[in-house]
Amino acid sequence: VPYHAAETYQARLLQAGFSVVVCEQVGIPGESKGPLAREVTRILTPGTVTDDAFVEASDDLWIVAISQDAFTLSACFGSVGRGELVIHDRLDDTGLRALLSRMRPRECLTQSSPPAGFEGRIIETPAWHFTRDTLSRELERTYGVSDPSGLGLADVSETGLGATGALLTYLYDTQRTALVHFERPRIERSTHEVILDHTTQKNLELLSTLRGEKKHSLWWVLDRTATAMGSRELSRWITAPSCDNDAVRARQRTIHALIESGALSDLKGLLGQIGDIERIVARIGLGSAKPRDLTRLRDSLHAIPFVIERLTQTGDNNLLECAQRLNALPKTANLLTEALFEEPSLVISAGGVIRDGYDPELDRLRHFSVDANQMLLTMETEERERSGLSGLKLGYNRVHGYYFELTKAQLAQAEVPPHFQRRQTLKNAERFTTPELKTFEDQALSAESQALKRERLLYEALFPPLIDVISELKTLSQNLARLDALTSLATVARESHWIAPELTDTVEIQIEAGRHPVIERAHSTPFVPNDTHLTPEHSLALITGPNMGGKSTYMRQTALIVLLARIGSFVPAKAARIGPVDRIFTRIGASDDLAGGRSTFMVEMTETAAILAEATNHSLVLMDEVGRGTSTFDGLALAWASAERLSECGALTLFATHYFELTSLSESLESVFNIHLTAEVTGESIVFLHRVAEGPTSRSYGLHV
Ligand code: ATP
Repeated sequence: VPYHAAETYQARLLQAGFSVVVCEQVGIPGESKGPLAREVTRILTPGTVTDDAFVEASDDLWIVAISQDAFTLSACFGSVGRGELVIHDRLDDTGLRALLSRMRPRECLTQSSPPAGFEGRIIETPAWHFTRDTLSRELERTYGVSDPSGLGLADVSETGLGATGALLTYLYDTQRTALVHFERPRIERSTHEVILDHTTQKNLELLSTLRGEKKHSLWWVLDRTATAMGSRELSRWITAPSCDNDAVRARQRTIHALIESGALSDLKGLLGQIGDIERIVARIGLGSAKPRDLTRLRDSLHAIPFVIERLTQTGDNNLLECAQRLNALPKTANLLTEALFEEPSLVISAGGVIRDGYDPELDRLRHFSVDANQMLLTMETEERERSGLSGLKLGYNRVHGYYFELTKAQLAQAEVPPHFQRRQTLKNAERFTTPELKTFEDQALSAESQALKRERLLYEALFPPLIDVISELKTLSQNLARLDALTSLATVARESHWIAPELTDTVEIQIEAGRHPVIERAHSTPFVPNDTHLTPEHSLALITGPNMGGKSTYMRQTALIVLLARIGSFVPAKAARIGPVDRIFTRIGASDDLAGGRSTFMVEMTETAAILAEATNHSLVLMDEVGRGTSTFDGLALAWASAERLSECGALTLFATHYFELTSLSESLESVFNIHLTAEVTGESIVFLHRVAEGPTSRSYGLHV
């Protein structure tokens, strides 16, 4: 491909799931004999690229290695952009599935069959990559420690260690450089996380809608971040709600403080001046950072003291704490300011990157070309005087370099001086060079190439001091991302009049006048708020009501409010008390999986079976019209049995149905109660009030609708 269009082609190939190996000329023209040396300079893979051209700023790219023996299943996730390795040890199938749907890795290293439902690129990896020996070698290479226990991995199983080894090998092979920006592997024990399986994430339209668009997803409502780091952090929070009340309350407190401080819009403006430090750090670590990356980092670092100042001004302890976590790294900022032009050129090979005055030698080489003009003028005058040829002219062209020119007319009148050597004959003139001019030319040309070489050297010398502070930079980017995400949640909470939910230790969901966060924002018509009360004593609400009445909306809004509360956000309601939740399950809507060999009904039943098997008395379950894909009585039987089972296990359940026979369950099962959505029929027309009321209804108004 033409080199200037390479990026476009690379992006397209990566998009299609391929890897791209880049070979480049590495020799310097004119310095080596024979063909220029060529080398493989980069390997781009869909899950490891960090360039802005290939990965959207709002996406985190992950890659996973999965290892399994007869007893254990472990996975190690890695992100080059984040410089992170996360080990999930001793997983079960469900846990792995939940992780894969949350992290959505682009590539999967495995020696056996790929995990079910994984859609990215599979890399079959030989068994010996999953061994302790490989791991030791890789740990030595990346962290300078060969013993896993030295890195706090003593408790990790053989399969966990194997997965880590295989992942590090792959990363080293593709990045072809030490992974200096990588933190030591972290072991994640996700007991604090509310599990959201893939179906639930999809159905609740957390990061994208069922149609695959970002607009009208929950993220779309919440994302008011000013930086790409903050936006990614927020996406992670949305898919990883927490059961840890203390951690969640800490976020709530900061959001509250941000709203009260009146500093929101200032902070947003200040954060907006900060670049994607996280990605830049990754590129610095990999040695692929371009001059503009470094100036972006410089400008970001210069913006941080203002953020700190604004936070400090508020005088709030929570915000002071946020300020203390930000380190503006003044030494690094100064180094970059001194070294780089305000607006450097895009690539170092073009020059124009290192600032004048930073390096005397570079200045000397650069100034040679400025001084050269004066020297040429002097030379021209001297030659004119010496030869008596007043019309002698000095010129330059790209092929022949510098020359003295004499017209045919002048030549006819005077002798050519003896030290003139003929270079080129034109129709009306002759061009000559002199030994003095030749020396000058060599010097001028070599000064230019030496200046470029010197500039590259100086540029490369900026990396080691940056790499020295890489962990500080990463901490900084994490704390900025967190602050930005909280600022975003605070902005939404303030503008949409959301309130702080109370987090309790008893199992319950009590929502007063709850609203649907997305519909409320997307529609101009006023949203009708509704209450939700689920407790262990009254755990299953059977919801009936007309088609188009608002049953699905009501169920989803409850789930979204619980999820928002569990990520620390404020919620669209008048008041809310939310207890611990271990999982959110949804069985909503119809979809088939023809490629997977499952009909619409089969998908529905498989999902229902999974929920019935796994739900606990800490789970929130949404069941929307179970059993509608088959004959009426089969469907009724299935819905009936499902409701009974959910009531038995005590899961907090919202169960919408058009089978009015089910409403009699409340007579036999204590935990079941009926609610319905109201509608009014006047003559020929029906008005949906979207209001939840106690008791059952007995009509669907399907024909009206
Ligand atoms: P069906 O039984 O046909 O599936 P449903 O009862 O599940 O219908 P929804 O899909 O929840 O109905 O709602 C239908 C429409 O009514 C939604 O598109 C939404 O715009 C509107 N709606 C629902 N609830 C409310 C509300 N509380 N306030 C305002 N509008 C609402």
